[in-house]
Amino acid sequence: MAKRPFIILIASQKGGVGKTTIALNLAVALRLQRYSVLLVDTDIESASLSEQLGIKSDGKGYSNVVNREAEIGDVIFAYEPIDLYIIPGSQAMERVEQKPEKLERFYSMLSKQSFDFIIIDTPPGLFEEAVARYFRDVAIITTPDSVSSNGSARMAQYCDRHKLEHRLIINRAGYSKYDLEREEVEKIYGDVAFLMIPEDKIIAESIMKHKPAYMIDREADFCVAITELAREYSLKVKESQEGEAGSIQEERETQPGFFEKMARWLFKQ
Ligand code: ADP
Ligand code: MG
Repeated sequence: MAKRPFIILIASQKGGVGKTTIALNLAVALRLQRYSVLLVDTDIESASLSEQLGIKSDGKGYSNVVNREAEIGDVIFAYEPIDLYIIPGSQAMERVEQKPEKLERFYSMLSKQSFDFIIIDTPPGLFEEAVARYFRDVAIITTPDSVSSNGSARMAQYCDRHKLEHRLIINRAGYSKYDLEREEVEKIYGDVAFLMIPEDKIIAESIMKHKPAYMIDREADFCVAITELAREYSLKVKESQEGEAGSIQEERETQPGFFEKMARWLFKQ
């Protein structure tokens, strides 16, 4: 049976909080734990993942599939050093209108791809509600300031409304002396934060070297935090795969096959 991918949405209301940086390094961390991982860049207006990885995609990617100009298989590119798969976010020069039914078709195809994890990097703002049911977990990213934290609270309410599991990640902690305290951010969000990720120089180095931070130094503070996030998702996917295996087993036990039914019928005669 094909595996059902565990789809994680990396989201925030505000831009520039670290979604792309976290999505990429989480993907690498899970891949290095031997999971098969597909990273999807849905930020059409400022796509940067393929550029950061030096993947030559001829501008082809996500929006071509959404607009039925390409098949999904034609826009999955390998980041060869670790066999991480990417759907780039095809750079657009104009605002791209995405109709809900087009997105629904895209996510329906995506959910049939055989990967352990699919990580969706997003533009800032709320996601399309027509596709909410495809997401297994939403990582809401914020920086420790009031504007971004208020955005994370709105995102959390939106997830609650769509019955989606979500967790808060406070990124770039320690960047400014005006940072809010963790508790202050949590109070705005309305729950405890799952993780704090520190401001780390490794990110600038990573951009300069076109190499994910996680592949430069796994012991860097930023990467240690990412390992914790990857461990959590690894546990979640194991739980859900065991759950699926369990339910298949139950189906077998409760639904007798044709010959079994025949035999029972014959014995009854
Ligand atoms: P988003 O995708 O939410 O717009 P990015 O991932 O592009 O955000 O990050 C915004 C900027 O912040 C980038 O210049 C990135 O390199 C930097 N950045 C993100 N997280 C960190 C961090 N933990 N430490 C240092 N720089 C960071
Ligand atoms: Mg981004």
